[in-house]
Amino acid sequence: MSKREFQTEVSQLLQLIIHSLYSHPEIFLRELISNSSDALDKLRHLTLVEDQYKALPFDPRIDLELDEENKILRIADTGIGMNEEDLVSHLGTIARSGTKNFLSQLSGDAKKDSNLIGQFGVGFYSVFMVADHVEVISRKAGEDKAWRWTSDGKTSFEIEPAERPVAGTTVIIHLNEEGKQYANSWQLKEIVKKYSNHIAFPIFLTYDKS
Ligand code: ADP
Ligand code: MG
Repeated sequence: MSKREFQTEVSQLLQLIIHSLYSHPEIFLRELISNSSDALDKLRHLTLVEDQYKALPFDPRIDLELDEENKILRIADTGIGMNEEDLVSHLGTIARSGTKNFLSQLSGDAKKDSNLIGQFGVGFYSVFMVADHVEVISRKAGEDKAWRWTSDGKTSFEIEPAERPVAGTTVIIHLNEEGKQYANSWQLKEIVKKYSNHIAFPIFLTYDKS
């Protein structure tokens, strides 16, 4: 297992998201579903245009799985997936070019900053508004190995080998006090309808009926 520090800007961004968006924690689900949708678009594109990908299966879907009792929410997709290198660069550094510029525009005023964050799109790290810790299990299309990335969203993350039967990504959210309200299938359906109605891939919700 290897432990790595987040790039400084990532820790900064994490703190900022948590402080500016505390009144809209539900947007984490919009961000994760949009990442799954992007990952499915990328794989679809490759299976259409790249010879080495043409034979790969493309069975697009996004699954939300709720374990109400243990307060765990999983978001799984059958998209492009990430290998070890991708996990480090996409979830450990601020790869997006506009982000540094964005950080420099922030004023410290929660209201102004939350508008700015709204325009910018906050992305994956918004999950730490609702999570104690997060696991990402991913296998890149065309590769055999799978990897588990874990973090509490504070200063560091860890990556280790894992198992995943097919390519794609599963984000496993261990809900925190704030996030426990989302361990509720009715709530989840409402949030998906509100923010993710335009998603072009099927979204399935499964939960234990108690
Ligand atoms: P953005 O979506 O704006 O690029 P995010 O913070 O939401 O920023 O995600 C960062 C990056 O992590 C994405 O660009 C993508 O490369 C990778 N990523 C996140 N979620 C997934 C996923 N479900 N499947 C594959 N890659 C993902
Ligand atoms: Mg995103």
